[in-house]
Amino acid sequence: MKRNLLIATVLAFTVFAFPAMAQNFGGSHVCGLNGADAAMVKEQMMANRAEMRDFVRKRGAITYVPVRLHLVADNNGGNRVSERAALDMMCILNDFYLVHEIQFYLSGSFNYIDHSVLLDNPTSGDAYSKMVEEKVDNAINVFINRFIQSSGSLSVLAYYQPPVDQADWIVITKNSVYGSNVLAHEMGHFFSLSHPFFGWASEPYNESLHGNPVGNIAPDNVTENDRMDQSNCMIAADGICDTPPDFLFVAPDCGEFTEGIMDFNSEVIDPMEDNVMGYFPNCASYKLTPDQADAVHMSLESDARDYVNPGSTPSLEEIASVPFLLTPLNGSTVGYTSVYFSWQEVPGATRYLLEIDDVGTFVTSFPGKTLTNLEENVTYNWKVRPFSSLKTCTIFSQQFSFTTNDSPISTTEIASVENWLVRPNPIAKNNKLVIEMNSNEAFDAEIKVYTLTGQLLSTTNNTFVQGASTFEVTTNDLNTGMYIISVQSGKGVMNQKIVVR
Ligand SMILES: [Zn+2]
Repeated sequence: MKRNLLIATVLAFTVFAFPAMAQNFGGSHVCGLNGADAAMVKEQMMANRAEMRDFVRKRGAITYVPVRLHLVADNNGGNRVSERAALDMMCILNDFYLVHEIQFYLSGSFNYIDHSVLLDNPTSGDAYSKMVEEKVDNAINVFINRFIQSSGSLSVLAYYQPPVDQADWIVITKNSVYGSNVLAHEMGHFFSLSHPFFGWASEPYNESLHGNPVGNIAPDNVTENDRMDQSNCMIAADGICDTPPDFLFVAPDCGEFTEGIMDFNSEVIDPMEDNVMGYFPNCASYKLTPDQADAVHMSLESDARDYVNPGSTPSLEEIASVPFLLTPLNGSTVGYTSVYFSWQEVPGATRYLLEIDDVGTFVTSFPGKTLTNLEENVTYNWKVRPFSSLKTCTIFSQQFSFTTNDSPISTTEIASVENWLVRPNPIAKNNKLVIEMNSNEAFDAEIKVYTLTGQLLSTTNNTFVQGASTFEVTTNDLNTGMYIISVQSGKGVMNQKIVVR
């Protein structure tokens, strides 16, 4: 692939204006790790290597690493990344690291921070203090904000801030959470990996400046340049032997880089375009080399990283289904004053993300949520996505819609009902279906049977007495399938799904 000379020219005017930041080329990458911090990351890897000579990587077992996600908004709560995007980001990250036997899980709930400075200027002193205040001591802290300062037209998508002055966190912009390499790259830094072009961050390769073959020392005037024969690979560049030479070539995409650029030994170099720690943009997928993966595991086992390696395991239960929505029924009309959203529990899910168009999003551990701030005569769409701290690669339920009116009948569950049960469930066709009710006061109700799509099949009236009572629902007309039994009174609505077979 031809180097993109236009981008190279732009860089000549911009990189030096902001030497602290490594830069983003080609629009899809990445990273604002600054020069001093990059040196600290490499030092950490070298120190781990020196101190952990006997390190043998565990294989065949996944290490689970807690991540605290901080979702940053402006002072009024606006412009925050969506929870669904945060879940997708964790899914993408785990997809990348699964082959390396590391999986990341959510530590606690999302942390919502309303702080305009942190949203758009995370390298400022104010933002720094706020992050120190908000970070937790038992997880990798990842702040998702909107903007990171950079130079000219080049954007920094994310950066890692190593542990100085109480720092040790990753900042990623919300538009970058779907980049398959962005958070995986920053996690690499967190676990001691440098850029393969270490030494070149402030000055991408330029033949007229650096010659061909290149000299022995990188533009930082300190670091030895990598060589194809690996003769100095333990110290050169990133200090990793199986990452080939990379002098920060400005490439438009991931295509094979064949520019005939030679190392110090006059051997033509062949960089690894799809290395996740490099800067080649637009690769279909990115990788760590085996030596990089070993360095990550060594870091994970180091004393400095004790705090994110608790040795405990989150729930591994898979989430195999999507929530079955119960109330408000699809296509129904309900009173607006108090609307109860409910759905059936999903095995494996410990939390649910409820999204209601034009209203907002809610995370609950219980499969239900009451809202009292809806408007009259409005049609709302809603859906629910289950997840757990580890299992975030989930999808939403189908979408239901309903319309509000000024009816006093709310969809709140009936407060006087202590418990109720529809049995048997599943039920054989033509058998008797019984509602067992236990209420601490009597109430009149309509018992309605709906199809799953909200079509009303029958209505029966009954008065449930105080205490325990039963009511028999006729199911003679019901074909094999699933239905909703709905108990509706002036005090609320309760729904239960049944299966007829
Ligand atoms: Zn980086």
